[in-house]
Amino acid sequence: MKRALITGITGQDGAYLAQLLLAKGYTVFGLVRRSSTAEGAALRLRWLGIAEQVTLLDGDLTDLGSLLRVVAEAAPDEIYNLAAQSFVKTSFHQPHLTGEVTALGAGQMLEALRLQAPRARFYQASSSEMFGLVQATPQSETTPFYPRSPYAVSKLYAHWMAVNYRESFGLHINSGILFNHESPLRGLEFVTRKITDGVARIKLGLARELVLGNLEAQRDWGHARDYVRAMWLMLQQDKPQDFVIATGRTASVQDFCALAFGHVGLNWQDHVTTNPAFLRPAEVDVLTGDAAKARRLLGWVPEISLEQMVAEMVEADLARLAAPGG
Ligand code: NDP
Ligand code: GDP
Repeated sequence: MKRALITGITGQDGAYLAQLLLAKGYTVFGLVRRSSTAEGAALRLRWLGIAEQVTLLDGDLTDLGSLLRVVAEAAPDEIYNLAAQSFVKTSFHQPHLTGEVTALGAGQMLEALRLQAPRARFYQASSSEMFGLVQATPQSETTPFYPRSPYAVSKLYAHWMAVNYRESFGLHINSGILFNHESPLRGLEFVTRKITDGVARIKLGLARELVLGNLEAQRDWGHARDYVRAMWLMLQQDKPQDFVIATGRTASVQDFCALAFGHVGLNWQDHVTTNPAFLRPAEVDVLTGDAAKARRLLGWVPEISLEQMVAEMVEADLARLAAPGG
């Protein structure tokens, strides 16, 4: 029976990845940082009904000692480093913290791997945000990077550290350059979930309008369940390497609104307004990924369409809000 350690297990991807690995018979450990609301920490794991099936170990990405202890305790065959300050907008407000966690924290996990479990296989959660001001379209593993936020700069540091540790120490380290992926478990601050939550509130008569920022921004949106499968596939390869994971289909924030409002029979133009408060100091205008390498070497293709995902997210938010205490 294989053992896996997931940092960021309480986040969107961590929860779905834990579910996937449990279904494959893994023993799953997760790194969790201390919070004054401990009961809230495992919210997503509870939503998936797997909170009792994983072992949570306390530590923080910025505390190497805690990572060494956790890696020793979990004795993992596979490590998935998903923990990060992952919200772009916040990274403009808290650039130092973002660098400490998302950049240097990843370096700490690589050190923990090298010192404590050098035979384990390692996944680093890299991001399409690293392409930022895109230098070519679509973006693949060979496209030059041009980060546009402290978050993206931090991810770029972590990505090159992953590559460097692989090349320097011969470790089985893989960097997955994942394009945006969403689900009913996406944080409410991200635009997709903000929209589906807003649609559900408006449909249920709990709100009248939804205030957004840049409606023209375009993303290549996939489903988190498809994307965690790609993470696992990467670690099953003999040769460690980097992969772009994307659908290849780009839609605008406006398109996403049209789909989400349309799902409940509403017209988005009747409800969406904009406010400059939701704009970023520097924007990533459009991202489109080319996942041909993943298709070729991993046999990975996305199975959930944008329309199916939007429907699932809106339905989940409707159910959540309609539930007692929702
Ligand atoms: P989330 O924001 O949902 O989850 C982030 C996780 O990191 C949470 O479990 C959080 O814990 C944990 N974390 C934050 N800071 C620390 C810390 N100092 N020590 C330990 N744990 C910490 O992100 P996603 O699940 O969406 O994404 C997973 C990873 O993939 C992230 O690294 C993200 O940047 C990256 N990524 C995501 C994409 C996407 O579209 N979702 C696209 C490309 C990359 P807590 O619950 O306590 O806050
Ligand atoms: P990101 O790609 O990691 O930054 O994911 P987000 O979901 O936070 O943002 C995706 C795009 O939606 C960005 O270009 C944002 O500028 C745009 N956007 C427009 N309105 C909003 C909003 O109200 N909130 C967020 N989070 N993003 C918005």
